[in-house]
Amino acid sequence: MRYDVVVRGTYVSNGLQKGDIGIQDGKIVELSGYRTLSADKVIEYNDEIIFPGFIDSHVHCYSNPNEGMNRATRAAAQGGITTIIDMPYDRPEPIDTVEKFNRKIEDINQNAVVDVALWGTVAKNKGVNQVQKMIDAGAIAFKLSTFETDPQRFPSIPDHQIIDIMKITSKNDILLAFHAENEDIITNLVNQYTSEGKVEAIYHHLSRPPESESSAVSSLLDLAYWNNAKLHLVHISHPHTVDMIEKMKKIYSINVTYETCYQYLTLDTDSLKKYGVIAKCNPALRRPSEVEQLNEQLQKGDIDFITSDHAPWVKDKTEKNIFKAPSGLTGLDIMIPVMFDYLVSKKGFNEQKFSELFSSNIAERFNLVDKGKIEEGYDADFTVINPNKPWKLEKAFYQSISNQSVFNGNTIGAQIIETIVRGKTVYHDKEVTFENKGKFIPGLKGGRLSEY
Ligand SMILES: [Zn+2]
Repeated sequence: MRYDVVVRGTYVSNGLQKGDIGIQDGKIVELSGYRTLSADKVIEYNDEIIFPGFIDSHVHCYSNPNEGMNRATRAAAQGGITTIIDMPYDRPEPIDTVEKFNRKIEDINQNAVVDVALWGTVAKNKGVNQVQKMIDAGAIAFKLSTFETDPQRFPSIPDHQIIDIMKITSKNDILLAFHAENEDIITNLVNQYTSEGKVEAIYHHLSRPPESESSAVSSLLDLAYWNNAKLHLVHISHPHTVDMIEKMKKIYSINVTYETCYQYLTLDTDSLKKYGVIAKCNPALRRPSEVEQLNEQLQKGDIDFITSDHAPWVKDKTEKNIFKAPSGLTGLDIMIPVMFDYLVSKKGFNEQKFSELFSSNIAERFNLVDKGKIEEGYDADFTVINPNKPWKLEKAFYQSISNQSVFNGNTIGAQIIETIVRGKTVYHDKEVTFENKGKFIPGLKGGRLSEY
């Protein structure tokens, strides 16, 4: 058989393999020996490693509307990410009705460069009836917050409403995720520090102590236990919280997964002091010893996967009051090369483990049944990395509207060489090469099985 495309070289599939990957109509049809398959187009690599396309399940395309679907997915393509799952906290209005949800699908079909699945959310004290409608329209999961970042766009949801929503998501076997921070503790500390004129960067960290994360998480674990919810906790930042989730998960058999973000493994309070608003994210960066413990937990197999929490604010660097600056870091362009350097080159993680943390574990948890692996029947999504091709990260590199990063100026050892979505190249040789061909990936309940 002559394939549309053959990708040839060293690829990650239960360890490192060397051979040919035969692709037809965007699907992996055959894995075969080296130089055994023929095709109209052969993509061949020698020193590079071919990974299953990476997935970032925590992206905010529209918290800053100047980013938007096209820019964010261009950043993803350049950053080696072939599927994003976009968060619902859009400006000016969050995705909390089926009408808004359907409009966003249109946006994806017109403007996305890589594949996109969508989170839904729920308005405060109303709109629970929209949950089933959004599931039927293809929402892959739902996200709520226990901390009010913005009363309209990013509200905190009271416990009685969380219970109502858990009942619907668990009935549908849909993931329900939380931004878990204790609003009472944080708001009081922020008010106290502000009234005392303590507004330097480090007070962002001090206003979000470890228990502001772990107390919110323990409550959610308990609600999930009683309501049989399929729970996911985003951006877990503190080793105590990890320890508590691991223990409660085992003791009570709770169906829970959790992620951390690349910044909680690589940055700490020293970065916050040095870079100020540029290093402001929620939860706040932790102390160096806590970051070290979080890394040890990852090493021993805790933490299900890693995301970027890409929130592309353009921040006013002259802002002296840390509490007035927006929270969130840019990430899609840089997370994979930065983390390849950090985990594989520096900490000795193997390529298989790396592909689990940034692809297959995410695909499995979200039921992205066509994604996450280089195996026959899966989508032909690949990220080609040269592990040893140093380059300097400059502001001009970014596709995202936000090019403000603590990592700017660093020399990064690994480089994304090519990104391929369903058999088509979307990034190659420092250029986004294939535009507007990303696809909406509905959740299983949204009829994906019948569609294929
Ligand atoms: Zn987020």
